[in-house]
Amino acid sequence: MTRPAVDAFALSADMLPADDAVARLLDLVTPVAETERVPLMDARGRVLAEDIVSDRNVPPHDNSAVDGYAVRFADLSTEDETRLPITMRIPAGIVPDRPLSAGEAARIFTGAPVPEGADTIIPQEPCRAGDDTVVLPPVRKAGQNLRRKAEDIGVGDTILAAGRRLHPAEIGFMASVGVAEPLVRRRVRAAVFSTGTEVRDPGGDAPPGAIYDSNRFVLMGLLADMGCKVSDYGILPDDPAALKDALARASAEADVVLTSGGVSTGEEDHIKPVVEDLGRLDFWRVAIRPGRPLAVGRVGEAVFVGLPGNPVAAFVCFCMFARPMILRRMGVADVLPRPIPVRAGFAFKKRAGRREWLRASLTGRDEDGLPVAERFPTEGSGILRSVVVSEGLLALPEEPSQINPGDVLEFLPFERLTG
Ligand code: AMP
Ligand code: MG
Repeated sequence: MTRPAVDAFALSADMLPADDAVARLLDLVTPVAETERVPLMDARGRVLAEDIVSDRNVPPHDNSAVDGYAVRFADLSTEDETRLPITMRIPAGIVPDRPLSAGEAARIFTGAPVPEGADTIIPQEPCRAGDDTVVLPPVRKAGQNLRRKAEDIGVGDTILAAGRRLHPAEIGFMASVGVAEPLVRRRVRAAVFSTGTEVRDPGGDAPPGAIYDSNRFVLMGLLADMGCKVSDYGILPDDPAALKDALARASAEADVVLTSGGVSTGEEDHIKPVVEDLGRLDFWRVAIRPGRPLAVGRVGEAVFVGLPGNPVAAFVCFCMFARPMILRRMGVADVLPRPIPVRAGFAFKKRAGRREWLRASLTGRDEDGLPVAERFPTEGSGILRSVVVSEGLLALPEEPSQINPGDVLEFLPFERLTG
């Protein structure tokens, strides 16, 4: 992340800029040390704990990209048809037992090793084959339709580095060099609970004054999608004793404890004193919107992240702060999301000195081909719909207080903030 200049007057002294908060969160963790070997299909979503170095070439030999005829280019006419005897037949999986001699054609199939001596493959479609001979069309260029040995992977290549997350393509890439049980880091254990005497589980009653819990389901889903082992600690009332007990249990079992709600400064917000009682609070004031305040600390070995109660703020703070920290704990090498430059399609007033994230969608392109982002019309951090109907978060940098149409901003599609 680049670090924009901050308007010092708009920030109170104890408020951390967003980038500093991320840096401090990352400093709190190291990758989980324990590793295990798992079968390929269980490696999906896991983090590689070793470099994968290939001990073979892929493809292992020059092979045909099509069904057709392997020939020597020098035997063909560039202007007329050429008739050649078919002297070999090479299906995929069979290694030719001799080179192709001058004046011969070999019937060959996709993926089959190309016989020594052949340098060009003619696809079968323009050819006319008889029993023992084939009439080949004029050919102007040598080397066509041949896939070269090692064109994907060579012996000794590091095909994937430790710290890489394993998605289906990476799994297949390892399979292609014969790796069956990669070494991965153990899953990060995450414990989640919601706080708030008014908060209820869907499925039960929500009497007047009560609301249904949405945060816990968002957070548990985000963590599960990251490959964490998630423990559900349910909903806790705004009661210091209950919070203390749950936080003590959760931090003994988990690497990361996430809560939502109860981190403001009202009399009913008990999370911060409880964390200070059991462990240490690192910071809780960050110059952002939505999401102030966000409480970060340690309880025992666990990192504690107290997310705001408002659903949009909880989601945004998870993606921008908790997620990079958890990725680092997982052992992932690249933990920061990569933004896409876009142009604002709107004007917007913000407070200087504060990083803000709007929910936004890409609606088209401007004359230079840059995508244009439109914001969700309302900013309320309780409006979860804004996340559901938008495509991502648009970051408004600290210093300006006015965003104008055409300003270039950083857009983070939700796919780069989740999973
Ligand atoms: P708090 O940070 O506890 O003051 O909560 C801020 C707002 O978010 C309040 O309106 C809460 O009712 C709401 N809220 C807190 N926790 C949740 C939750 N788990 N799901 C949905 N809304 C919540
Ligand atoms: Mg609350």
